[in-house]
Amino acid sequence: MLDAGPDLRQQALRHRLNRLDAILFTHNHVDHTFGLDEVRRFNITMDAPIDLYAEAPTMAHLKRVYAHIFDRASNVQDSFVATIIAHELKADRELVLWGMRFTPIRLLHGRLPVLGYRIEPEAADSPMGNDPDGWWPLAYCTDVSAIPPESWAKLTGLQTLVLDALRRRKHPTHFTLGQAVGVAHEVEAARTYFVHMAHDLPHEPTSADLPPTMTLAHDGLSLGGLPLDGQQHEG
Ligand SMILES: [Zn+2]
Ligand SMILES: [Zn+2]
Repeated sequence: MLDAGPDLRQQALRHRLNRLDAILFTHNHVDHTFGLDEVRRFNITMDAPIDLYAEAPTMAHLKRVYAHIFDRASNVQDSFVATIIAHELKADRELVLWGMRFTPIRLLHGRLPVLGYRIEPEAADSPMGNDPDGWWPLAYCTDVSAIPPESWAKLTGLQTLVLDALRRRKHPTHFTLGQAVGVAHEVEAARTYFVHMAHDLPHEPTSADLPPTMTLAHDGLSLGGLPLDGQQHEG
């Protein structure tokens, strides 16, 4: 899972998620972190801890806000809190989990350095390497207003780009739709999904005006052919 938003519980119920193997965080804003308490239920259904990956500043925020999780020994009494294993991520080091390679991508969210992720099978015979619809490599770049020069190389050869496109009016910390379309043209992924839209972008008319390889993403969108819990994900 990428980030843990405030409506994590609602989304998990809606999509009947019954396991959560790891969480990779992009940055420390609360619209990306304030669902972390909810993951404790997965500890019960899986009878296992959950791996959590974040850069040092994001980890510091999580440890401050979720002291009851990270420092549970200091709780006045033992209570039901999430059991996680915290791993500090380095922006220049890739991570391989279950045969999938996660390459951090440095992005700028206003003045705040954040992470995007390039995700792809580590090898053709990786469990998730079976990709008949061609979704990998996929880059997930939410909450971004600028891409530093050194990060463009990590955005080459993409089948799927997921990119921030807040609204049409300028914003100090997010790409506008126009800027996002410009970046998507440069990246030239086979398909681009825009995310993190504000309410001033009406879904259908906005999508209808976009270039054919680009569209607005929506809640419940699934990438066909990706095995979920060993099965095809329907819906
Ligand atoms: Zn943010
Ligand atoms: Zn955000």
